This record gives sequence, C-alpha cells and structure tokens, in this order.
Amino acid sequence: MDSACGEASAAVGPFYCPADQKVYIDLDFFYELQQEYQAPGDFAQAYVISHEIGHHVQNLLGTMEYVDRQNRYLSREDQNELSVALELQADCYAGVWAKQAMYDDLILESGDLEEALNAATAIGDDTLQMQYQGYVVPDSFTHGTSAQRVAWFRKGMDAGLVSDCNCPELPNVG
Ligand SMILES: [Zn+2]
Repeated sequence: MDSACGEASAAVGPFYCPADQKVYIDLDFFYELQQEYQAPGDFAQAYVISHEIGHHVQNLLGTMEYVDRQNRYLSREDQNELSVALELQADCYAGVWAKQAMYDDLILESGDLEEALNAATAIGDDTLQMQYQGYVVPDSFTHGTSAQRVAWFRKGMDAGLVSDCNCPELPNVG
C-alpha cells in the first residue's frame, strides 16, 4: 500500500503521514505486537493507534512543522533527541485519550491499562535494541526508553490535558 510518505507495510510499522494526514497500520503489525513483542490485547492496539493520532494532533498544532524546521540545522544526535521528545509527547497524548476513554466513554475493561503499559514497555528503544542487537546505544534512540514511554503515557493519563504534555524541547501548546 502506498502513502504520501512512501510505502506502508508491516515491515515499516505503523506511522502517521503528515502529508496526507492519515495513519497507516498494516494489520499484521498487531499480530507481531502480540507474538513477537509479547504485548497482546485490544488496548495494546488502542495504545498504538492513539499514539499515531497523537502525531496528528502534533501536526494540527504545528509541533511537527517546528521539528521539521529545527531538523535542518541539527546534528543527527540532536535530531534523535528531538524525535524522542516528539514521540514521548505522542505517548502522552495517547494517555490523555485513555483517560477520556476511561472516565467519559467508559469503554475500558479491567486489564486494559496494563495492556497499554505493557505495550509501551515492549516497544521502548532500549528494550528493542537489547532484544535485537544485544546492547543499547542511547544516542541512537528515536522513541525513548521503555521507562520513559510508560512514564509519559501515565503523565497524559493522570493529567488528562494536552497542555500537560508540554516539554522543554517542543513549543508549548494548549
Ligand atoms: Zn510515533
């Protein structure tokens, strides 16, 4: 399948394409999430989707454009650092959604939050690097550690406000 951001496949993983404002998820990824990353459950999937929608929010608020502009002048290491900030903020937005889902829409079942937190742990940069290459290279992180991803999801969930996901590396919104 083609997107305005290139080919969308299970190998690429889920992503948000700012050019056409769509989220692309090959459904095989959810099978991988369950089998390979040991993160089963419908709310693990909901976390992945809401993280990508978090990028859409960042696009609408101008945060993505800000990052694109900054990236022109930054070294690879600094670009990675900014990428981590962007990704953790998207995790935080996913948490904001989870709070709404819990208190307003009442769609959460017991065990759901654990599924999301387990998924956030499973796809942390340090955990993935350890699993696939046996060692960790923090300068190459683009999404944050497992502990950071869990912490930012929780931060959004506790606060429930987009403005509580502000961080020093990115423009304040909300
Ligand atoms: Zn992301």
